[in-house]
Amino acid sequence: TNQTMSGKVALVTGASSGIGEAVALALSAAGARVAVGARRVDRLDVLAQSAPGEMLALRLDVSDQSSVRAAVAATIERFGRLDVLVNNAGLMLTGLIDGADTAEWERMVGTNLLGTMYMTHAALPHLLESKGALVQLSSTSGRVANAGGGVYAATKFGVNAFSESLRQEVTAHGVRVVVVEPGFTATELTDHISDPASRAMATQLATRMRTLRPDDVAAAVLYAVTQPAHVSVNEILIRPTDQT
Ligand code: NDP
Repeated sequence: TNQTMSGKVALVTGASSGIGEAVALALSAAGARVAVGARRVDRLDVLAQSAPGEMLALRLDVSDQSSVRAAVAATIERFGRLDVLVNNAGLMLTGLIDGADTAEWERMVGTNLLGTMYMTHAALPHLLESKGALVQLSSTSGRVANAGGGVYAATKFGVNAFSESLRQEVTAHGVRVVVVEPGFTATELTDHISDPASRAMATQLATRMRTLRPDDVAAAVLYAVTQPAHVSVNEILIRPTDQT
């Protein structure tokens, strides 16, 4: 079996479904000890039981700084170190800007952007110590904005800017920053869209193409974090072949 992550410790946010769950399992299968965080702890418990290696389930709300600090502390307490942080927790509440429910904007900014920043801030001292890696789940929406996805794109553009700044700050210390930008991936992400037109569009898109699967994105993450220490894979843009 492939044990390329043996001896390493990873923390994956938003691991209760979709891409985060696939990433956690891939890291575990590669030999890492993995802490997984999300709000739906029941699902994390099931995941931890089915994982090929040691897995720690943590109640985590990335938009809450005290929850973030507690999750990082619990990971260190249990495993003694942190080599890889995967900032995956996110939500996409698409819809037009005109007439939008601005509470949805606050949730997206609080989770996708501030949540990523809080997690990074809390984990960074440990990543500097281990000369570890930080993986940011951005999106194709971190590179191109479209009508109906303005605020979601703003959070992902923000993640990309924050990550490039961080890369310049920490690369000389041996910490690698990886931005992963998937296109349409079949997950629960679109189930939470409240705007009926946006949700119908997403559902229709999924039926018209061979979407990415969470495992496809997990393979990209695993590739980036298993390179030798002198190789820094900074950006991976990965789309379904059928997506224009
Ligand atoms: P899912 O909805 O399946 O997963 C989202 C995860 O984020 C869940 O585990 C959810 O867990 C968690 N989450 C949401 N809010 C919080 C919070 N406040 N604190 C902690 N965890 C939270 O969607 P995906 O797997 O598709 O999304 C994962 C990431 O990938 C997101 O950042 C998304 O933007 C990005 N992405 C997805 C694409 C796609 O097409 N699916 C394309 C490009 C990027 P819980 O509710 O239990 O807290």
